[in-house]
Amino acid sequence: MLLNIKVFGIVQGVGFRPFISRIAGDFFILGTVANKGSYVEIFAQGTPKNLENFVKAITEKAPPRSAILKVDVTEIFTEKIFTDFKIVESEHEAGDIFVSPDIAICENCASELFNPADKRYLHPFINCTACGPRLSILENMPYDRERTSMKNFPMCESCAAEYFNPASRRFDAQPICCNNCGPKVYILNSHEKNHDAIKKVRKILAGGGIAAIKGIGGFHLACDAKNFAAVQKLRESKIRPTKPFAVMFKDIAAVQAECFLTDNEKIFLDSPQKPIVLLQKNNSTIAKNVAPNINKIGAMLPYTPLHLLIFNFPDEIKNFPTALVMTSGNPSGVPIAIDDETAAESFGDFCDVIISNDRKILMRADDSVMDFIDNEPSIIRRSRGYSPLPIFFDNSLIPALAIGGELKNTFCLAKNNLLYPSPYIGDVSDLRTVEILKSSIRRMMDLLEIRPKVVACDLHPRYQTSKVAAEIAQNLQIPLVKVQHHYAHILSCLAENNFNGEVIGVAFDGTGYSADGTIWGGEIFICDTKNYRRVGHIAKFRQAGGDKSSKESWRSAISMLKDFSVAKDLNLVEERNINAQILMLEKNLNCVESTSCGRLFDAVSAILGICKVSSYEGEAAMKLQSVAETSTKNLHGDFTVGKDLILPTDELFNEILLRRLNGAGVADLAKFFHVQLAEMVAQACEIISLQTKIKTVAISGGCFQNSLLTSLTLKKLKLRGLKVLRQKLIPPNDGGLCVGQILGACN
Ligand code: ZN
Ligand code: FE
Repeated sequence: MLLNIKVFGIVQGVGFRPFISRIAGDFFILGTVANKGSYVEIFAQGTPKNLENFVKAITEKAPPRSAILKVDVTEIFTEKIFTDFKIVESEHEAGDIFVSPDIAICENCASELFNPADKRYLHPFINCTACGPRLSILENMPYDRERTSMKNFPMCESCAAEYFNPASRRFDAQPICCNNCGPKVYILNSHEKNHDAIKKVRKILAGGGIAAIKGIGGFHLACDAKNFAAVQKLRESKIRPTKPFAVMFKDIAAVQAECFLTDNEKIFLDSPQKPIVLLQKNNSTIAKNVAPNINKIGAMLPYTPLHLLIFNFPDEIKNFPTALVMTSGNPSGVPIAIDDETAAESFGDFCDVIISNDRKILMRADDSVMDFIDNEPSIIRRSRGYSPLPIFFDNSLIPALAIGGELKNTFCLAKNNLLYPSPYIGDVSDLRTVEILKSSIRRMMDLLEIRPKVVACDLHPRYQTSKVAAEIAQNLQIPLVKVQHHYAHILSCLAENNFNGEVIGVAFDGTGYSADGTIWGGEIFICDTKNYRRVGHIAKFRQAGGDKSSKESWRSAISMLKDFSVAKDLNLVEERNINAQILMLEKNLNCVESTSCGRLFDAVSAILGICKVSSYEGEAAMKLQSVAETSTKNLHGDFTVGKDLILPTDELFNEILLRRLNGAGVADLAKFFHVQLAEMVAQACEIISLQTKIKTVAISGGCFQNSLLTSLTLKKLKLRGLKVLRQKLIPPNDGGLCVGQILGACN
């Protein structure tokens, strides 16, 4: 019996063909396996029983880094033709393309790395078919060494022998190399290379210095995470006063010494993606200024051989730090640095050492960031390790490009049933970022072989991203579709959940351009993938002070006051600033009507004295949540959502203010706010559900990054018999906007 088997999914660059060749041996199968570019094609000849087991083994025993989306099996009626099983080369066929993300170093490679008898002993670029860089070194498809930045490093004889040996772990591993033929690490502007370079970095870090380290997707800035002064120096040099830094721990034990770690969190923390996972602090000895006033620490594990070498190199330093701050090395406001020039220019003057290497990074990949809500993932930044893995959507999509939002930008390409979100780009308000966005789009279009027939962007006329989209539409002569910001958030949730029916969409977010000239951000829709209708929202207020109000939360607080005279009792800011803000409101100058839920969080944070001015986006809300989580009291509240479906958040705000002035505890009030807001959402959804019979609620938007609000909302909606869709592996914040814009554009 002869079968033709096509396997679709991530089956390139993950050791898939050698795996097939191996299991063919197990089941006495003869035939061939070939990489067709978009799928792997197998001709398998054997007894029916053996073939059955063989096909089963393909999905059940697939290599850990592969991801099979579909297996097509057809019988071919022909005379017996094969006498052995071979891996064959073949023509690259058009079809869905899967590009593997970068993969953290595997256990086998990690143990060879520290085995003195191994030929790759202490080799900073050790990798195999199960691990190593992929997207970040890829020039073009199909994935072959000549089309990666490894093309500059011809394999030595012994590596070549492994590369061509189907029995080897490194058979067909494109970035294969060793101490003889691989790239080299070096200290920038110095003569130190290889192991001397690593030792120097260790010495500087152990001594409280700052190092820049070139990794997989860009440079990191590092220092001892338990050394307050070192962290402070890094903060001052990077001009980043309070935004939490991520910490790379030596190993799981080092993580558990500082943080609580659930089984689920551990699985993600130690997964091949190795994201940053936000973990609850537990008597942490990490310096207080690493994540000031936040209950959590962004923890990750070493994911490149160089990271492991920096922590564990066998030299005379015995007390090397077990935790290092590892923050993206980006010139302020622009994406992470990937080349020596930019690194030297942007942080050469404050770093004590820069360790780089001669393997080029072709595509940036910031670390991904993962939080957990009710013990399930809630991704905050989806980049290294995840991008450009596609998400699957049942309805076929025309080839499309969505530019995404202005902050936390990612873009998305789509074709057929797949949406491919890009790695993290960042804040596109800077023109240097715009250039990087454009070149990243070109590169991804080439890699995925997608020629968009439509391009989507936000409604906001002044976004740089809207301009980029217009330019691309013009150049490619394709239509430009503008998708309302908060509808796009809900669409993103529908896409991720592969849901194509009608939902009640709750978008709680910062601010976004609306269809009616006001600022939206606390919206309730009835919608599906084709249309949306706004049916409810939080109480309107006048947002005064323009863009400043997103950083200066005291401005939102004053805007929401019923009676401006109490402003002075709240000890918000200097009186003249308060008066200026009041004047703007009274004269209706620089004011815009708003239903932004993000600003509501800011205002509450400010009147409770938790955060009046933010140095990073979302700071006021994050700190409000952190304080709320320390409360054990349940204050009683009594707010009713009426038929107009306007959530009485103005009354809630006033009530919190009154109770605060009467001496109620800050933490209790912070919690009260979260509980009551969730209650209002649930009430509104219940009313809509009774009217419309819609039983599914989709929640999205940056505010649902808040695990307390989300957890409470989920509970209250489920209590009312409603099914809830939320985002887990695509961010609910603006980093997931592009995915929703794709659906908006493909209507
Ligand atoms: Zn490996
Ligand atoms: Fe948003």
